[in-house]
Amino acid sequence: MARYDSILETIGNTPLVRLDALAPAGVNLYVKVEAFNPMGSVKDRMALAVIEAAERSGELRPGQTVIEATSGNTGIGLAMVCARKGYPLVVTMAENFSVERRKLLRYLGARVVLTPAAEKGTGMLNKAIELAEAHGYYLCRQFENEANADAHVRTTAREILADFADEPLHAWVSGFGTGGTLKGVASVLKLASPATRIVVAEPDNAPMLGSGLGQPRDAAGELTASHPRFRPHLMQGWSPDFLSRLTEDAVAAGLIDEVLPVAGDEALRLTRELARREGIFAGTTSGATLAAALQVARRSPPGSNIVCMLPDTGERYLSTPLFEGIGEAMDDAELALSRSTPGYRFGAAAAGQPASPGVPLRADEQDAEAERLVETLLASEPVVMFALEWCEFCWSVRKFFARLGIAYHSVDLDSVAYQSDDLGGRIRPVLAARTGSVTIPQVFIGGEPMGGCTALFDAWRNGSLRRRLEAQGIAFDRSVEIDPDDLLPGWLHPRMTTA
Ligand code: PMP
Repeated sequence: MARYDSILETIGNTPLVRLDALAPAGVNLYVKVEAFNPMGSVKDRMALAVIEAAERSGELRPGQTVIEATSGNTGIGLAMVCARKGYPLVVTMAENFSVERRKLLRYLGARVVLTPAAEKGTGMLNKAIELAEAHGYYLCRQFENEANADAHVRTTAREILADFADEPLHAWVSGFGTGGTLKGVASVLKLASPATRIVVAEPDNAPMLGSGLGQPRDAAGELTASHPRFRPHLMQGWSPDFLSRLTEDAVAAGLIDEVLPVAGDEALRLTRELARREGIFAGTTSGATLAAALQVARRSPPGSNIVCMLPDTGERYLSTPLFEGIGEAMDDAELALSRSTPGYRFGAAAAGQPASPGVPLRADEQDAEAERLVETLLASEPVVMFALEWCEFCWSVRKFFARLGIAYHSVDLDSVAYQSDDLGGRIRPVLAARTGSVTIPQVFIGGEPMGGCTALFDAWRNGSLRRRLEAQGIAFDRSVEIDPDDLLPGWLHPRMTTA
């Protein structure tokens, strides 16, 4: 580790980790953990390489928009590179890919243009081409861009060679998506380490390489149809519905020694095993590659060294079959554990608070300064909310007011402004006395308490809030139709608040 001038300098140099529990005894099965890249996947390498090659060739001008059709890791890598280098990024993506990917891309500053699911990968790609032509964007073309494979020639392959400078490497195992990793690494190993067996894994139900059948293309080399052996499979990022140029190059150059089929359920099982038995958190194609590497390991003599690529982190797969059966709420065993001690559980009194909320404090327990302050605050604006800065119910109320265009004053009791002399803390008993409730937020309209978040939302649904706003002459957007419950925190699940 060192100091870096840019996050982009931290791409690559990922660790090789020897498996302990999952590998056959005596065989050194190393996994190359690409999740160590800054955006968590092997595609960070390619994203940087493609952009820098286009900068050098002059195809990409300063400030020009970059575009690519991608469902995941490539877009996320590109978003990082473009953010750091100041290029706007547009990603085209079919609408059926997971929502977290869209959000991640937008969070990094990219724009995401969705395409109809029915038009599959080709629809995404054609939209990217259309937008690039219409607006003069730079299109990355990861499936055929030589800079993609070249990134692995210069980095991934060199790293592996350096790590085995003193020992033979018997096999290197990888899947293929664009074929960039495959072509780049295999071409270097073939020359520099000819005894290393190049093993390529693919889904057992889509044996495109295994079939030996070529990819249908027209005279100009453009794709004309999906590969005849392609079938939809679980391994997102592997085997698109065609053999890319880079993959075809690897086949034509004779770089591949063996192709191994991998079953989807085996890929899922081994991805989970990596997490639970080795502590290595990776995506589905990692378990899939491991399935093939284990086939190689089981037939290898003791002392063999094998390297298995693990392309990405598991965090991108929360909504996929990988996390099937992993719940949000407490299951019965967790609930039983919660109930096994008296405190800190739903239905039990919180520390220092009465068991039933809403018991007002006596007047002599309150302080006059806090009382006066509340009075002044309530007079400051017709709509006043006493809140905590990071309370999710307060956020819900703020969103509600924003949607309805209602002006309000949020008194954030835990903010720096209310910390001196513990003003925020002293205001709470005053509010409790006025509202009969110790919870936050507390909303006041025209000085009258309206209750907290739930009460306010109920009042919206039954029309009483609307009447109160009108009676007070408070402006709001009458055309808005919302179910305020949609604004509540996502974790608010019945199972979590009861029991
Ligand atoms: N696994 C995952 C999760 C990926 O995103 C990719 C890239 N599409 C790959 C494997 C395959 O890498 P490559 O494109 O270099 O063949």
